[in-house]
Amino acid sequence: MADLKSILLGRIAQTGPMSLSDYMAECLLHPDHGYYATRDPLGAEGDFTTAPEISQMFGEMIGLCLAQAWLDQGRPAPFTLAEAGPGRGTLMADILRATRAVPAFAEAAEVHLIEASPALRDKQRALLGDTPTWHDSLTTLPEDQPLFFVANEFFDALPVRQFIRTGPAWSERMVGTENETLAWGLGKPAPHPALLHRLEDTKDGDLVEFCPAAAPIIQAIGARIEANGGTALIIDYGDWRSLGDTLQALSAHEPVDPLDSPGMADLTTHVDFEALANATPSAHSRLTAQGVFLERLGITQRAQTLAARLSDAALESHIAAHRRLTHPHEMGNLFKVLALFPKGKPPPPGCET
Ligand code: SAH
Repeated sequence: MADLKSILLGRIAQTGPMSLSDYMAECLLHPDHGYYATRDPLGAEGDFTTAPEISQMFGEMIGLCLAQAWLDQGRPAPFTLAEAGPGRGTLMADILRATRAVPAFAEAAEVHLIEASPALRDKQRALLGDTPTWHDSLTTLPEDQPLFFVANEFFDALPVRQFIRTGPAWSERMVGTENETLAWGLGKPAPHPALLHRLEDTKDGDLVEFCPAAAPIIQAIGARIEANGGTALIIDYGDWRSLGDTLQALSAHEPVDPLDSPGMADLTTHVDFEALANATPSAHSRLTAQGVFLERLGITQRAQTLAARLSDAALESHIAAHRRLTHPHEMGNLFKVLALFPKGKPPPPGCET
C-alpha cells in the first residue's frame, strides 16, 4: 500500500497545491493512513499526553463543574452529556465517576461521544461500554434537550488555513511539491471576507490562521444551549486572538517538521477563542486560565485528600501531576477554558463572566 506522502504527491501533481487545512485533514483523518484514524497517540508511550491522562483530578473537577451547572439550571431530565474528541475515554469515565454522588444526575444523563477515529472509538468502548451513542459530527446530537458538553484538546486538532497579509489582501500558504517532496508555497493575494477584522491588528507580512470547521461546530453547540439550556466547557491551548504560525507537529513528544512524515505525527495549532466566542448564538464567558479554573473548583483540596492515601513514588507523581495541571509555568496558563451558557444565566462555576 502506498504511503500517505506518495498519495499526496500524486494528488498535488494532478490537481495542484493544497491548502494547509486539506493537508491537515488528510494527515489526521485519512481512513488508511490518518494519524488519529489508525492509532492511539496518547500517553507516555505515545506522542503526547493530555490533562485527563495526567490525573483523574482533571475529569473530577470538570464533572463537578458540569453537575453544579446542571443543578443550577433546575436538574433538567433527560439531558445530553456530550464530549467531542474523547481520546481514550478517560475524561468521560472520570466525569461519570465523580458525578455518581449527585442525586439523579447519572439517571438523567444520556452520554454522546463525537469521535472520528475508529481506533479511538474502540478504546472508548473498552472503557465506557456500549451505553454511549457515537457520532461523526455534532450536527446529529439530540436537538430537543439540554446539552452539557466538554471538549479537551479537540479544537486544536481541527484543520486550519494560513494566510499572509499583503496590503488589503491575503496570500494563502499552500502545500505543494519541490524536488519530488512536499514543500510550502504561497497562493495569489486575494481579499478574504472572513479575515476583514484582522486588517485592524496586522501589518504586511503577518500570518494569521483561520479554522473553517470551528464556526459550524460552535454554532451547533451554542444553538442547542440557547434553545434548551445546558453549558459547554472548551479547554485548549491558545488565546483570545491568535497571530503568527502556531502549527506544530509532534512525534514521540518531540517537535518534527510538519511536512516531513504526513500521517505519522500529530498536527495541531493554537485555538483562536475569539473566533469560537463570535460564532456562538449563546452567551460565553471570558477566557479563564486552566490553573485558575481548577483551583476555583477545589483541585487543591481534592489533591490533599488523594495524597493522604499515597506514599513514596506514587505521592511524588501525584504532586507532580497537580503542579503540571495548575502551575502557570506548566499547563496552568497555556491552557484556557471558554464556557458557553444560556443568555441571561450565570456562567458555570470557575469561569469568568
Ligand atoms: N480529549 C482527549 C483526546 C484529545 S486528542 C484527551 O484530552 O485526552 C483529539 C481527539 O479528537 C481524538 O480523540 C481524535 O480522534 C479526535 N478528533 C480529531 N479530529 C476530529 C474530528 N474532526 N471529528 C471528531 N473527532 C476528532
